[in-house]
Amino acid sequence: MSNNGIAHEKCIIIGSGPAGYTAAVYASRANLEPLLFTGQEPGGQLMITTDVENYPGYPDGVMGPQMMEDFKKQAERFGTRVRLEMITKVDFSGPVHKIWTEAGEELHADTIIISTGASARWLGLPSEQTFMNKGVSACAVCDGFFFRGQELAIVGAGDTAAEEALYLSKLSPQVHMLVRRDEMRASKIMQDRVKKAENIKIYWNTETKEVLGGDEVEAVRVYNNKTNEESTIPVKGFFVAIGHKPNTGIFKDWLEMDEAGYLITKPKSTKTNIEGVFASGDAQDNIYRQAVTAAGTGCMAALDAERYLTEKEII
Ligand code: NDP
Repeated sequence: MSNNGIAHEKCIIIGSGPAGYTAAVYASRANLEPLLFTGQEPGGQLMITTDVENYPGYPDGVMGPQMMEDFKKQAERFGTRVRLEMITKVDFSGPVHKIWTEAGEELHADTIIISTGASARWLGLPSEQTFMNKGVSACAVCDGFFFRGQELAIVGAGDTAAEEALYLSKLSPQVHMLVRRDEMRASKIMQDRVKKAENIKIYWNTETKEVLGGDEVEAVRVYNNKTNEESTIPVKGFFVAIGHKPNTGIFKDWLEMDEAGYLITKPKSTKTNIEGVFASGDAQDNIYRQAVTAAGTGCMAALDAERYLTEKEII
């Protein structure tokens, strides 16, 4: 506690996905006594996933929410304090970093680790919500395997959609790719690969109207905005790949970010443009976006924070 009654921490972690909790495990084991704010969605994107089968160490797979509970327990075991609150404002103007909770409490910290993640964009259809985790997914790498051998649809036309369509085409006999315009935004090389794939059918000028099914997805109803015709495509899985939005809005006055809002870190580190502020996980990664890569950068951020505190002779 500082003189004026404002709590002063060595290390505050903002975000509670794999990056945040891994940073917390490392920071607490290094005696940084981290305080972690979970944010609005404790556990992050994995809380809306079912089976996770690609995280090393879980040979039989694990449910996303269970995995995040395990991460949290591991962080708490070493003394991480977890607060189920949002941080809504920051001030990185001085050597001591200031943050404010939603309730208006001000806290100070020598180091801040940002692991606020990114949120998948959705089409906004009610049926998309109805079939969430019952055939609707925003992550082909996470969920594609569950639909192997089945026909699938994917919506989107950027690099992610192209990459995910190609990934799915290795598991599925027929991938239906729904592109809302008469061209794709993806890089030329990715477009060429998609167009060359024998089992990817591209539907140009095509918008999704509704996901159909009973207990699980059975089809998707689409609309051609050139011919005004509607049609139904039978599929077992519907993948949405229309981009992600990093949760970095509160940092925009302080930290360098790219056009889409992803935080920019110095090469081979998690350092941002502000000393003592580190970024990890999907908030700074629009390419890999995996739980295991997020955890890796969370570890890096804690090590970077520890080194910074040592260099500044704070610890
Ligand atoms: P993008 O923003 O690049 O693309 C989003 C796509 O979704 C666009 O084609 C867009 O269509 C479409 N879309 C948006 N809203 C809707 C909607 N309501 N209905 C139908 N389609 C919709 O996002 P990405 O995630 O693909 O890529 C983000 C960034 O990450 C890019 O810079 C990309 O290059 C990069 N990236 C790089 C990779 C790599 O290097 N390996 C891999 C993946 C991504 P429209 O074009 O009509 O706007």
